[in-house]
Amino acid sequence: MTTMTKPKEKSKKVPLRGMMENVMEQFNSAADHIDLHPNIRKILSITNNEIIVHFPVKMDSGDVEIFTGYRVQHNNALGPYKGGLRYHPTVDIDAARALAMWMTWKTSLAGLPYGGGKGGIQLDPSKYSQSELERITRRFTFALADNIGPEHDIPAPDVNTNSQTMAWIADTYMSTRPPAERTANQHVVTGKPDGSGGLEGRDRATGYGVFLNIKFWAARTNVELKGKKFIVQGFGNVGYWASHFLEKEGAKLVAVQDAFGSIENQKGITVEDLFEYTKSNKGSIVDFPDAENADKDAFFATDCDICIPAALGNQITKENAPTIKATLIAEGANGPTNVEGEQLLLKRGVTIIPDILCNSGGVVGSYFEWLQNRNGELWQLDEVIAKLDKKMKESFDKVYEYSEREGMDLRTSAFCIAIKRIEKAYIQRGIFP
Ligand code: NAD
Repeated sequence: MTTMTKPKEKSKKVPLRGMMENVMEQFNSAADHIDLHPNIRKILSITNNEIIVHFPVKMDSGDVEIFTGYRVQHNNALGPYKGGLRYHPTVDIDAARALAMWMTWKTSLAGLPYGGGKGGIQLDPSKYSQSELERITRRFTFALADNIGPEHDIPAPDVNTNSQTMAWIADTYMSTRPPAERTANQHVVTGKPDGSGGLEGRDRATGYGVFLNIKFWAARTNVELKGKKFIVQGFGNVGYWASHFLEKEGAKLVAVQDAFGSIENQKGITVEDLFEYTKSNKGSIVDFPDAENADKDAFFATDCDICIPAALGNQITKENAPTIKATLIAEGANGPTNVEGEQLLLKRGVTIIPDILCNSGGVVGSYFEWLQNRNGELWQLDEVIAKLDKKMKESFDKVYEYSEREGMDLRTSAFCIAIKRIEKAYIQRGIFP
């Protein structure tokens, strides 16, 4: 989905600082609700391991550049660390810690045998050629060495990384193993291309999961999706696929924002036309002929029913929350709504389907890919979709029903369920020694 060479971003640097504060407030609020054991609260409040690597890469010019890469492993009480790798200028230790923590709650909520991890490289990929990005990725994998592994820590795609990035990581990792172990290590990453151990349908799993969550919510609240207007921030892997499925259901895409600008057409933007246009416009939506370029700062105030933030964290804040027209926010991105923004929205009766539930189709798809590789199987697309439907429905129902029973918002409900599962594992096992 993501093209690795993109026009220079016109947008301001997005303030990801404070993401850790956000996730800790969400965690503590749920921990208070379930009266989490104080010792387990202490354990879950901190990350297990934080790996920072500095590594040299030869550029096309022959010069050497030094890069900084991160991998934060938050918790593995339920299984190997699992989470994406992001290539973006805003990647730093705070963002990696927060995103790793969200992964722990997400995998737990989905009932997967995984913990949470996240990482990436602080860079702007639009400044590098494809062969430079390949060398950067391979050298990063080499620098991470045994800190990742198919039974230890399993990365996946995230912002500005894709199936090609995963293929380079898998190939590099396998090349560093003893000959007899090489092919058995293919599941060191998920989100690979389908010719290289990837899962049919993994590309759409996250966006499809976002769509399913909206559909389940609509069914519970007797809302007809046909004719509903929606806006999407981020038209990459998650934003595109979520739009694709919502449009098929009869909803109308009326505005899109990406790193380069915003467009709006209240009569509707055809998702496939926009997708084709971005391919010929270096990944950007700007100047799409069937819409007007719009004010980037007024994007969230666009007239619509459903808002899908599917780009970066900290996008919905106390500044723009009061202007939001949507009555449903379906979080495709991780951490798009900060705590202050969320409080204002909840007071106004806006429903938020939280990231750890809403975008969990991606990690569920990754789990299927990991199982497929581990068992030497090849799954068909219809089988993948049927399994994904079932898993997403189970998670949505659990969160929705718990929230109704306990009289709480969907995020707190999702966090309570996720944290309880980890608490149970610690109570059963105890703390070594
Ligand atoms: P992507 O790289 O495919 O797309 C990112 C999109 O966001 C692009 O359209 C980009 O132009 C846009 N964007 C970047 N900066 C922006 C800004 N400042 N303002 C507006 N738009 C901006 O990435 P993706 O894989 O679609 O991931 C998007 C979000 O979804 C991230 O928060 C990621 O953590 C989350 N997520 C992704 C997956 C997955 O499977 N890919 C799974 C779960 C969650």
